[in-house]
Amino acid sequence: MADSVSVQVALRIRPLVDSEIKKGCQMCLECVPNEPQVFVKGTDKSFTFNHVFNPEDNEYFYDVAIKDLVHHAFKGYNVTVLAYGQTGSGKTFSMGTSYSDENDAGVIPRAVKDIFKNVAEMTDRHFKISVSFMELYQEQLFDLLSSSKSTVDIREDTRGIVIPGLTEVAVFNADDTTQCLVRGSMGRATGATAMNAQSSRSHAIFTITIQQQSKSDESNSMTSKFHLVDLAGSERPKKTKATGERFKEGVNINKGLLALGNVISALGDESQKGYISYRDSRLTRLLQDSLGGNSLTIMIACVSPADYNLEETLSTLRYADRAR
Ligand code: ADP
Ligand code: MG
Repeated sequence: MADSVSVQVALRIRPLVDSEIKKGCQMCLECVPNEPQVFVKGTDKSFTFNHVFNPEDNEYFYDVAIKDLVHHAFKGYNVTVLAYGQTGSGKTFSMGTSYSDENDAGVIPRAVKDIFKNVAEMTDRHFKISVSFMELYQEQLFDLLSSSKSTVDIREDTRGIVIPGLTEVAVFNADDTTQCLVRGSMGRATGATAMNAQSSRSHAIFTITIQQQSKSDESNSMTSKFHLVDLAGSERPKKTKATGERFKEGVNINKGLLALGNVISALGDESQKGYISYRDSRLTRLLQDSLGGNSLTIMIACVSPADYNLEETLSTLRYADRAR
């Protein structure tokens, strides 16, 4: 990957699921062999991304799209992996946010394994690895690794973005780290859901902080953050049955997703670079020092291939297209 490409987009098309097959859904996407391009059947639309995965297993997906970013994190880059798409499109499957099956492991457990492999190999350095896990629901930030599921807030100081009081767990191997993932995911089910939220309406942010210091020269040290974000479902709210009135477009769309789309598209536009509005949502504030600047971002745009979901799929393709 070229160092100059700060935002990449990977389209991930999942296979038809049983419920779609039962409904008799047809495929609405057609890929161009050996090109990262996709056509939307029945329309004149085509889109080109950095990668298109149709359908591929998590191992291949990780090796092609993500593995190299882990190496960049060790070189001092902040890295952000974002999974975007409607509910049921494969975000959690891709990220591995709710870790269960080792064979089907998603990005997080695979990245964790590679991080500790690097640590073991780089014997000329001291490392401190720690993790945090947050859930962002309706602009409220929950600390999923604190026993009380407390809320936390974002501050900015000379070190950059900081979250006072956030639980940071020091981890020493891959098992420790996946245990934090599992523990936090369980908390996710009771944290915001206790307040009537659905996990599809919240963002889950798993962050691995890598601190390293040269053994021969203690002044040679650096810290990088690796954010792995399972975003809220991108679908529009459904028609309200009570009034039959459609929500005005934009009214109820997740604030974080809207702000994120604006930031990412501004990052790719030279004329807007000085005016990036990170302050429009907590999600973009939180990721401020890991989007743009000395950082690498990949958006995994997850879609269903079924014609039934055509409208939401088109909306995801357009959102991802703005990010390029
Ligand atoms: P989301 O997190 O976007 O709501 P999920 O990750 O829960 O969606 O995926 C919905 C369903 O589709 C799950 O049953 C999941 O196992 C399946 N699925 C998603 N992506 C893939 C894929 N690439 N290959 C096989 N099954 C997938
Ligand atoms: Mg999910």
